[in-house]
Amino acid sequence: MAQKFQAPKGVAEYTPPDSNEFLAVRTSLAAAAQRAGYSYLELPIFEDTALYVRGVGESTDVVSKEMYTFDDRGGRSLTLRPEGTAGVVRSVVEHNLDRAGLPVKVWYAGPFFRAERPQQGRYRQFNQVGLEALGSDDPALDAEVIAVAAEGFAALGLTGYRILLNSLGDTTSRLEYREVLTGFLQKLDLDEATRLRAQQNPLRVLDDKRPAVQSQLADAPLMVDVLSESARDHHEAVRHYLRELRIEWEDAPRLVRGLDYYTRTTFEFVHDGLGAQSAIGGGGRFDGLMAELGGQELPGIGFGLGVDRTLLACRAEGLEIGDQSRCDVFLIPVGEKAKARLMSTGSDLRARGIRTDFAFDGRSLKGSMRAADRSGAKLVAIVGDSELDAGVVNLKNLVTSDQVSVSTGDVAEKIQEMLNT
Ligand code: AMP
Repeated sequence: MAQKFQAPKGVAEYTPPDSNEFLAVRTSLAAAAQRAGYSYLELPIFEDTALYVRGVGESTDVVSKEMYTFDDRGGRSLTLRPEGTAGVVRSVVEHNLDRAGLPVKVWYAGPFFRAERPQQGRYRQFNQVGLEALGSDDPALDAEVIAVAAEGFAALGLTGYRILLNSLGDTTSRLEYREVLTGFLQKLDLDEATRLRAQQNPLRVLDDKRPAVQSQLADAPLMVDVLSESARDHHEAVRHYLRELRIEWEDAPRLVRGLDYYTRTTFEFVHDGLGAQSAIGGGGRFDGLMAELGGQELPGIGFGLGVDRTLLACRAEGLEIGDQSRCDVFLIPVGEKAKARLMSTGSDLRARGIRTDFAFDGRSLKGSMRAADRSGAKLVAIVGDSELDAGVVNLKNLVTSDQVSVSTGDVAEKIQEMLNT
């Protein structure tokens, strides 16, 4: 026997009926971005490795441990995208999207890749819907970005999540905080690797989940204590607009995120039904990134929402999402002549936007009816020799079991009418 293959370890893969749920989640999150005036951006799945080293930060886990990096045939180092923001900013700078009015508001969706240890809710290929707005530092925009994520989750019926909010400060406050924090971390009992990380990227140590490290961080200095006046005002204004929007959040002074580019507003959506991998989305400001990647000095803010984890959260809440039916109408011909006739009916129906499937292979009526049931169709249309002679089509409503016979010329119209009632 020929070898059978399996998908690579740790990739998120969805087959029917799960794939219908997946699609419903992605559509819902994307629709929220579109409703808020974001335009679609279709981006490459691999980029120059240097883009991520420069944009996301060399000492982050994502860049130092989790990238899928390879040399192409021309010897260029490429990386499967581990996150969306660096690619968006690269594209905005490359195509001068910031010359046509600010802020530039774009959204994207697709797969991302991180070589992590796979577990429930943590994959090596996972999916995000994200958006970015570049060229405005209006705190109302920060609040709107958080609101758009919340609207996407709400459209699915999700309620069991909390919004964590922090400010990571502007460049001035960050430098000051770095110094204070490094001083604090130096006095702790840390292993060699963590000590090194404390020197390179002290904020990351706050994110260390190991109890032996966490237990020593209870008295760690907080960014909120050293925020510059302007960063503090900005943060206050964001909170003001969130209150106006009636969005509830929790202040999370210890929230740091895994990517270096974040400044000022930082947030995360965590769901309490998911266990360890509880973040269903997150984002924040990245005010220095555009200049860092060769563009104008424009501020930016955005989010990345995890489609896979949002789906798990919907399941944890017992939500029914996604249309599980494959089609609206199932066409069953009995005999060769009926087949040709019904195939053209199928074409007419699809032209009207009606999802239509067909009984191929000349199966028995009973077998075809079973296939119709499985398809989730609401109506079946049956044509045999006697219907052909009489110039009619038999329609059966699979929900109510009502049956009618309609003349061939009127069938598409009649089906449309029956589906709309
Ligand atoms: P991040 O870019 O790390 O802020 O990720 C944004 C969102 O993507 C997270 O809140 C998760 O919902 C999702 N996500 C990140 N990494 C993974 C992963 N390895 N597997 C599944 N979802 C992920």
